[in-house]
Amino acid sequence: MAEPARTNQRIDGARLWTTLMAIAQIGGTPKGGVKRIALTEEDRLGRALFAEWCADAGLRMRVDSMGNMFARREGRDPHRPPVLFGSHLDSQPTGGKFDGALGVIAGLEVMRTLNDLDIVTEAPLELVNWTDEEGTRFGRAMMGSAVWAGLSGEAEIKALTDAQGTSVGEALAAIGYVGEAPAAMFPADALFELHIEQGPILEAEGRQIGIVTGAQAQIWYEAVVTGQESHAGTTPPVARKDALLTAARIIELVDGIMREVGSGGIADPGRGTVGRLFVMPNSPNVIPGEVRFTVEFRNPADEWIAATAETFPVRAAAIAAANACMLSLTPVLRIPAQPFDAACIALVEQAAAKLGYPARKMVSGAGHDAVNTARVIPTAMIFTPCKDGLSHNEAESLLPEEAAAGTQVLFEAVLARANRAISSLQTAAG
Ligand SMILES: [Zn+2]
Repeated sequence: MAEPARTNQRIDGARLWTTLMAIAQIGGTPKGGVKRIALTEEDRLGRALFAEWCADAGLRMRVDSMGNMFARREGRDPHRPPVLFGSHLDSQPTGGKFDGALGVIAGLEVMRTLNDLDIVTEAPLELVNWTDEEGTRFGRAMMGSAVWAGLSGEAEIKALTDAQGTSVGEALAAIGYVGEAPAAMFPADALFELHIEQGPILEAEGRQIGIVTGAQAQIWYEAVVTGQESHAGTTPPVARKDALLTAARIIELVDGIMREVGSGGIADPGRGTVGRLFVMPNSPNVIPGEVRFTVEFRNPADEWIAATAETFPVRAAAIAAANACMLSLTPVLRIPAQPFDAACIALVEQAAAKLGYPARKMVSGAGHDAVNTARVIPTAMIFTPCKDGLSHNEAESLLPEEAAAGTQVLFEAVLARANRAISSLQTAAG
């Protein structure tokens, strides 16, 4: 594994790993994963430990009214907006040690390394821990960054409730994280987020670094197939209006549309998924009369989503008609592709090249806080490989040298951005 030989400003890989393992103890599960659900006692404990480490590193902590945490290191020029970097400390109920935590702890390691090397950057730096990225408790992913970026209303988010009826606002207050700063965008120069890939491409290709160029477009539907309930033993084939069989054939279509893209390789674009299905009346001896299910398509290209939005409803309706059923298809979500900032992407690319890490450009398959910030400030992401592409799983795994490589790239990119010449800053502003 390549050491970062082409720099004498090195992050401390051993300290990074020790800190990652220490935060993984909070909410640590017997199977080696993490259960640190947003706005629970475990989240509070994780935040407290993170805040303590930040204080030890001489960072000044600011918490906003959504509980987003910003740990600031001053720069030489107080008039320059800060360069942000970070991720999230919350996890899925059966999450791994690295989803989110890597980006936050890597950011802490960047700060500690700057302290060790006595480096003062031109622009200030702020390390961010976004509130509730996972969306597992209140059903809304990336809520902290969405409010910060002005994509969601704070009052609306704070009114969301969990299964016990506790609201986001109440849960935030209960863990003591309703901060005094407004949960709103402030002038920020850029944001970098380091994250595990959560997919198999980097590992399969033996690459250390993913240079993330953006996030893919999505379209989601609610589908209802209506047939006719009838007796399983007496209804002959010609008389059947089987809503489940029809739904199954539409699910086959969704999978087929996905597989029409690319050549069958691991990095093929295009995703099509039916992840939830309700069968009525769900009785063993009744032909199903109604089936409700979700459909979602994703692709880096808006054009592909647009074309699919044209053709999929027509093809699905034809399947329903051929099976004597009715189909109602309602689009419920449409998100355009979100490209990241070209200058920030270039800094990540240059850092990987300088350090000699095998890298490739790629599009993020998943949503991230950085996708929200990319709508309002220059943003880029760095991916590290993860074993078998596995995530949202207690077995999620990352090698110490992979964590160190990603962190070294983050360090270089942040430093380059924070020290960039003022003239280019003025150009960007004008
Ligand atoms: Zn994550």
